[in-house]
Amino acid sequence: MEQLMRDFFLFMAKNKTFTSLAKRYGLRFGASRFVAGASLKSSISAIKRLNEKGMPVTIDHLGEFVDNEAEANEMTNHCIEAIEAISREKLDSQLSLKMTSMGLDISDELVMKNMRRIMDAAVKHNVFITIDMEDYTRCEKTLKIFKQLKSEYDNISTVIQAYLYRSLKDVQDLNDYQPNLRLVKGAYKEPAEVAYPDKKDVDDNFKKLIETHILNGNYTAVATHDDEIIRFTKELVEKHSIPYDQFEFQMLYGIRTERQDQLMKEGYKMRIYVPYGNDWYGYFMRRLAERPANVVFVLKGVFGK
Ligand code: FAD
Repeated sequence: MEQLMRDFFLFMAKNKTFTSLAKRYGLRFGASRFVAGASLKSSISAIKRLNEKGMPVTIDHLGEFVDNEAEANEMTNHCIEAIEAISREKLDSQLSLKMTSMGLDISDELVMKNMRRIMDAAVKHNVFITIDMEDYTRCEKTLKIFKQLKSEYDNISTVIQAYLYRSLKDVQDLNDYQPNLRLVKGAYKEPAEVAYPDKKDVDDNFKKLIETHILNGNYTAVATHDDEIIRFTKELVEKHSIPYDQFEFQMLYGIRTERQDQLMKEGYKMRIYVPYGNDWYGYFMRRLAERPANVVFVLKGVFGK
């Protein structure tokens, strides 16, 4: 039953009619639990509330898979406006982005031109950028661009997904760049040719990646809601006397908020990934697919308490 609901929400996430209706009508159906606002302006108060609590954030303007140059340029402009707003509003915030929105699927020239525009603004305003990792078909290209940009700019990181067989080698290869990396389980549906089908293998690989990257002396963002991975990380840093400013935990906005508070109170850096924007529908459906139990919450949002 749970698998059926997962597949249903992943299928719904790709529905073009609902996506465009959602853009028109603003946040609905309890989406505001997972999406801070339909615009950056309307999200700023939620971001400031997190900052005031002591939690830094990384903001993400929702939207993926842009297939024409004009839209890619427009998404790039949005990123630059977000960087300027972070600086203007004095937010304790980084920026996360997906390169398919900047023209990754269109041409190497376009995506590099747009990424350099974003990085120049980020340097100017002292904002740190993370390139989110998308599906496997874009992994190689994303890492290649990351290496290029990392050799030109300091304030950039990317993401490594524990479900991919290749990831441990990627973490080892990237060590030459001493990168700040966000480590995650991985969010896309990938075939067994490239990714571990079993959760247990993904979790074991996640631990290997965390251990390798932290013990190589690199800054590590452990992005998970999984208590076992959090416990492992805490023990690892304790055992090797890793300073608390060499790693952080990251969680998604609205997910396990009590755990977020607890980790922060224990003295760990707890960064919240805050998505915003009118293209919220697909993101919201994927969060429901991850945990169909959240549907109960959504139904309460639709039908009242
Ligand atoms: P799971 O095994 O999914 O969950 C472990 C436990 O956490 C569950 O048993 C449950 O107790 C709790 N939990 C999980 N989800 C929920 C929920 N919705 N509500 C309540 N409790 C819940 N993926 C990418 O592929 N690329 C990226 O760039 C990327 N960036 C990310 C950035 C951040 C900050 C985070 C937190 C995740 C990111 N992800 C990314 C998603 C990631 O890959 C996973 O799909 C997602 O985090 C779920 O995995 P998990 O580690 O939380 O563990």
